[in-house]
Amino acid sequence: MALFAASARHLSVAEAWEELSRTGPAVHPTTIYRTLETLTTVGLTHAVHGPGPTRYCVRGNPHHHVVCQDCGQVAALPHERLTGAVGSIEELTRLRPDASGSLMVYGRCAPCST
Ligand SMILES: [Zn+2]
Ligand SMILES: [Zn+2]
Repeated sequence: MALFAASARHLSVAEAWEELSRTGPAVHPTTIYRTLETLTTVGLTHAVHGPGPTRYCVRGNPHHHVVCQDCGQVAALPHERLTGAVGSIEELTRLRPDASGSLMVYGRCAPCST
């Protein structure tokens, strides 16, 4: 899915459908959903769960996720920027990122903070 590979973008089924239908032949949202679920099962994409709709992202450059707990906006943080922080978290809590190596951090995006 070139749509996702373009960057570490996290798109819901609706957003992916919107972009796909703008640039190519119509694909049914159900087809997109099934494709993304399959790709996630085999590990080519990963799912970030809400608030809001589940977002999907291609497993490209390893990244952590920062999720707005109000609107569900997802931002990607490259692993290498947080190596020290992840080390501290493991040391202090004995918790470590899951098999994907990804941490989920919840916060509030700028528009939701005002
Ligand atoms: Zn991601
Ligand atoms: Zn927000």
